Amino acid sequence: MFLGEITNRLALYDNLHPIGLPVKARSFSNDCHRGISRAHCGGMETFYDTHAHLTFPDFSDEISALLERAQAAGITRVITIGTDLVSSREAVALAEEHEEVYAVVGWHPNDLEPAPDDVRPNLRSLCEHPKVVAVGETGIDHYRLPSSQGGSAEDDTRWKAKQETVFRQQLELAEEFQLNVVIHQRVALEATLAIFADFAARVRGQFHCFVDDAASMRRVIDMGSLVSFTGISTFKNAQEVRDTLAATPLDKLMLETDSPFLAPMPYRGKRCEPAFTRHTAERVAEVKGVSLAELSAATCATAHDFFPRLR
Ligand SMILES: [Zn+2]
Repeated sequence: MFLGEITNRLALYDNLHPIGLPVKARSFSNDCHRGISRAHCGGMETFYDTHAHLTFPDFSDEISALLERAQAAGITRVITIGTDLVSSREAVALAEEHEEVYAVVGWHPNDLEPAPDDVRPNLRSLCEHPKVVAVGETGIDHYRLPSSQGGSAEDDTRWKAKQETVFRQQLELAEEFQLNVVIHQRVALEATLAIFADFAARVRGQFHCFVDDAASMRRVIDMGSLVSFTGISTFKNAQEVRDTLAATPLDKLMLETDSPFLAPMPYRGKRCEPAFTRHTAERVAEVKGVSLAELSAATCATAHDFFPRLR
């Protein structure tokens, strides 16, 4: 997800303009593998950042320090998300270098300018990698159409058609590899669900950075998919997001940062990083009326179920 590209509602929530280098693989100092059985780790509940963009230039020369800060905050897994072929390849490289990092590979709907007619062949070889845990982020975005940048109605039609085609290709790819998809949608829930419905029996979606209302959340969950929440859930003026969160079953949600965007309170407006998942977790636990240990156990178990290659 790029600068300010969340959903139309996000514009309400702030200046959302918050928007790798190899290091030897190492083992965890406090080994909290398998959050299911060891959700409580050295006295600190563990959480996963299921959506970060570690390949963005914001983090270029400090991945190791960033991952150490995440570990210190109990964030023991970070899933880094590709938005095009280059960042997808870089995401896989980071996953190879760092034990706690996993990759999602795909094309973001706003990043399709250089995308080939068929994105599957290049992504297919990446999907074979054991640390690639899903396809995406992919989906439909009707917020930033060509007409919003001086293009014509015909340009919009062509652009929408390309988004749909590439979304379908990535859903097919996920199905082929028995993976799930990380879904971005902005001002396009109907269009996204209409396409996704054709695959919903075989592929599940993580509707990431969820900011829509509770009724929309229920439609997603009724299709067998789930939602994830960012630092927006900590924002003072995001009560609607907290209302949706409150209505979301505890076993149908995951946590994420969308780093480098959307830093939670008290870092709102600053560069976000995976360690901040903890601040979001604390607010989410409060809203859900559960302990941090319960939230840890539930969200980590959901992540392992949704991303079967996550270890
Ligand atoms: Zn994203």
